[in-house]
Amino acid sequence: MEKTLSIIKPDGVEKGIIGEVIKRFEGNGLRIKAMKMISLSQKEAEGFYYVHKERPFFKSLVEFMTSGPIVVMALEGENAIKKNRDLMGATDPKKADKGTIRNDFASSIERNIAHGSDSPESAGFEIPYFFSNIELVN
Ligand code: GDP
Repeated sequence: MEKTLSIIKPDGVEKGIIGEVIKRFEGNGLRIKAMKMISLSQKEAEGFYYVHKERPFFKSLVEFMTSGPIVVMALEGENAIKKNRDLMGATDPKKADKGTIRNDFASSIERNIAHGSDSPESAGFEIPYFFSNIELVN
């Protein structure tokens, strides 16, 4: 069993598709181990995306991620990291496969509905960024 961090970004919350996204996770063997809705401060968004701090889109990404509430979840399942990313599709919704969350709902490469950890190392940083051990159900 593997754990991964998922975020429904401000555009997903605004579009009212929290339930639709969660339905896809639960329908594909991913179980929710922790979940909450929060609004990120600028510092919190910058800290979460620090690996991208030199990228040209960093400032815009932080503005987007602080523009409204998000839903953060720790998901668990077999190959949870890959499964979550397969369900999301490619970063750019135009390049994402049909039937993926991003192809179905995202409006741009930035406003792309969902985040999913890209490796066990990322998940190991990202899950504790939002959840303490006692917030993760057994
Ligand atoms: P992910 O793992 O598929 O989320 O993609 P990355 O880790 O490469 O990028 C993190 C997030 O930054 C993406 O999900 C997008 O919201 C945003 N992003 C990535 N590439 C671009 C880009 O070229 N332009 C803009 N404006 N945002 C981007």
